[in-house]
Amino acid sequence: MPELPEVETVVRDLHAAGLAGRTIDHAEVGWHRTVGQPSVTLFCRRIAGARIDDITRRAKYIVLSLSSGDTVFIHLRMTGRLELSTNASPRSPHTHVVLHLDQGEQLRYVDPRKFGRWVLTDTPDDITGALGPEPLDAAFKASHFAERIEGHRRMLKPLLLDQHVIAGLGNIYVDEALWDAGLHPCRLSNTVAKDELNALYRGVRKVLRRGIRAMGTSLGNADTNFYSVSGRRGRNKDGLRVFRRTGDPCPKCKTPIQRLMVGQRSTHICPTCQVV
Ligand SMILES: [Zn+2]
Repeated sequence: MPELPEVETVVRDLHAAGLAGRTIDHAEVGWHRTVGQPSVTLFCRRIAGARIDDITRRAKYIVLSLSSGDTVFIHLRMTGRLELSTNASPRSPHTHVVLHLDQGEQLRYVDPRKFGRWVLTDTPDDITGALGPEPLDAAFKASHFAERIEGHRRMLKPLLLDQHVIAGLGNIYVDEALWDAGLHPCRLSNTVAKDELNALYRGVRKVLRRGIRAMGTSLGNADTNFYSVSGRRGRNKDGLRVFRRTGDPCPKCKTPIQRLMVGQRSTHICPTCQVV
């Protein structure tokens, strides 16, 4: 599933491709459930003629700010991806939404597993209001991070995955950050000492920044993997220290990496560096 670095990469690629400032002539929705709200009819009516003023990211959402005052949130979930194509180029299988733009181009939404969602709204707080802070914001300090974690008595992994606590983290980057900080994913948050919290804060920011620099993590070659705009793969797989590296030596201590299940999520740890 695309996480903060992957979604950030998509947003940057959309900017680089010149999507900001383009006008949407009309929309076409093939798989109706992709549009979570409003109805497909209203969605198409409200988006037609609007200009895309800006493209940003909040948590794992791609956010299109429209000249009409509406905001479009795109959540890629498992396998969603965007393509910017000319009208003439053949459509990929599983293309579910097409925004027909000016200058003979289309923004296409492709999603083999169909879990991704688009929402168009004039009250964006309904979507973003309950989300936790952005971990890479300059204003987000170690003290803020500690406040978000200490107040709970929950295992670290599910706590970090909770978008209401901190925005943007998913399975890959949580495993990487916990390993970086030397903390076990099942450790209870209220037992983590100040220096450990500081290490986790630094670890979270470090692995996210590394992911962005490498333009995201693409793990395999399947159609369901992460691809940025127009099919470009991320290079962060080589930057992963534990995620999907079961049996490989820990880069710190050479103990083989282990896989375990934590809250039904596949989890990767070094059993020597990360003890409960
Ligand atoms: Zn180790």
